[in-house]
Amino acid sequence: MEDKDTLPRGVKLLHDPVHNKGTAFTDAERDALGLRGLLPPRVCSPAEQELRVLGNIRNKATDLERYLFLVSLQDRNETLFYRVVINHIEEIMPLIYTPTVGKACQHFSHIYRRPRGLYISLQERGRVKEILGNWPHREARVIVVTDGERILGLGDLGAAGMGIPIGKLSLYTACAGIHPTHCLPVTLDVGTNNEAFLNDPLYLGLERRRERGEAYDELVDEFVCAVRELFPEALLQLEDFGNRNAFRLLQKYRDTLCLFDDDIQGTGAVALSGLLAALRITGGSLDQQRVLFFGAGQAGIGIGNTVVAAMIEQGIPEDQARGNCWFFDTQGLLVDGRPDIPPQKQPFAHDHPPIDELLEAIRTLQPTALIGCAGQAGMFTEEVVQQMADLQERPIVFALSNPTAKAECSAQQAYEWSEGRAVFASGSPFDPVQLGNQTFVPGQGNNAYIFPGVGLGAVASHSSRVTDGMFLVAARVLAELVSEEDLALGRVYPSLSQIREVSARIAAEVATIAYREGFARRDPPEDILEDIREEMFQPLYPHYA
Ligand code: NAD
Repeated sequence: MEDKDTLPRGVKLLHDPVHNKGTAFTDAERDALGLRGLLPPRVCSPAEQELRVLGNIRNKATDLERYLFLVSLQDRNETLFYRVVINHIEEIMPLIYTPTVGKACQHFSHIYRRPRGLYISLQERGRVKEILGNWPHREARVIVVTDGERILGLGDLGAAGMGIPIGKLSLYTACAGIHPTHCLPVTLDVGTNNEAFLNDPLYLGLERRRERGEAYDELVDEFVCAVRELFPEALLQLEDFGNRNAFRLLQKYRDTLCLFDDDIQGTGAVALSGLLAALRITGGSLDQQRVLFFGAGQAGIGIGNTVVAAMIEQGIPEDQARGNCWFFDTQGLLVDGRPDIPPQKQPFAHDHPPIDELLEAIRTLQPTALIGCAGQAGMFTEEVVQQMADLQERPIVFALSNPTAKAECSAQQAYEWSEGRAVFASGSPFDPVQLGNQTFVPGQGNNAYIFPGVGLGAVASHSSRVTDGMFLVAARVLAELVSEEDLALGRVYPSLSQIREVSARIAAEVATIAYREGFARRDPPEDILEDIREEMFQPLYPHYA
């Protein structure tokens, strides 16, 4: 029973999304809480409310309208919002996260209705702690922060990128049961170089170009210090920063607080997991694989480093592990002696003559796996996929670029061009493919399989750090949860409908590391998995009367 003394009453209660039950307030509650007459007479069950919401969503003409409906439901009644998201995760996730959230960010300044999260702009330098103090809830346990420079595959959206931290945190609650009031979305507004936004009179962010000087680092530093002071146990997730800042900020802060970058580390783990599951189909061990990455940005390098760490764990030396991973980017094959190689790419620049053509790189290197993460549509042509299929009995082909329109090839193409032999996964969802009498169900390498569970494990153990080992264990747990039935359909990830169990299992292993390696700031419970399951938020209405 909730404490009635602190509960708002009457219309205030109906406008309080944390406590509101809408038409589900019982007769006794309506009398006790001053709600009589403020609601239509019929008391609805949560299941009936859910049906009404689903009907509304399905009747909308566009996904953006569905997104807006869901956002306003979240603003009115969080419990019902999460009930719908959790019970229909496969249908709703693409509406509250990629791809629809990308469109919502692009239109942010025109569809804006109500604020959510905290905006911290360059103008507020020196006042960041005060702003964090304006957060209306007592505790922030997970903070997702962006500076809006590289929103999904859409580029610089400035302050309009706020939809991303909001969406990711909704997934933290839906997929891993982090309480909604413990989730804090933050946008650092440091300007934008998006010309269309700068010329748009309705753009809601700072009307200036992106800060590239010291003021940027000072703002980030002030923010990190304020988080440490006000929410010392919070997990901080970096999200959709541009390349020039993402690697640098991760390096700068990862050893001083509980922090990770999902685009680099989360992507690394989800792709490694896909590879591990794919090996259950193709046979062979990870350290025998030769992986060619098409794209050497945050995703590619993040995956490369994670794969290398996993190979080292299997017992091969680092230089051999790195030698198994090759990168192809805008400058062609990443080789020694190429000018201006940034620090994060240097460990993957191998001694080899330059190659300008992807097809030639495949012919020369003979990879067992080809991983697309360049954000360039259609680059895995028929020739490319056929070449992979000529070289390997079961070639691994992952087209991870998002959104769907940016995928290197479609699932249909990968299966058709390889005569059904490719083990395929993608970044955005693809429908099942029928080839002759065989059905293939392509897996989606969605980061939502990893970051909520890793975050939950860090939060549950009050960990002071998020380590690479935690991402490795998360990848392994996820790969183990792929069933034989999934593999028979060619699917290298479990169904999203199991996501809460996936997150709980990952969290338990992550927390175990935190307890074992001295990062936890609490004593371990007797049963770590049970402790985590019990802590997970359930979208159930409390009884108020
Ligand atoms: P990024 O901008 O950091 O990196 C892009 C890389 O691609 C750069 O190395 C660039 O040189 C290379 N590139 C661009 N055009 C190329 C071309 N024509 N030929 C060869 N190389 C080219 O971006 P990122 O964060 O690494 O993301 C890349 C893609 O991966 C995006 O589409 C993103 O949506 C996707 N992604 C997928 C997942 C997932 O599936 N879970 C996770 C993260 C990112």
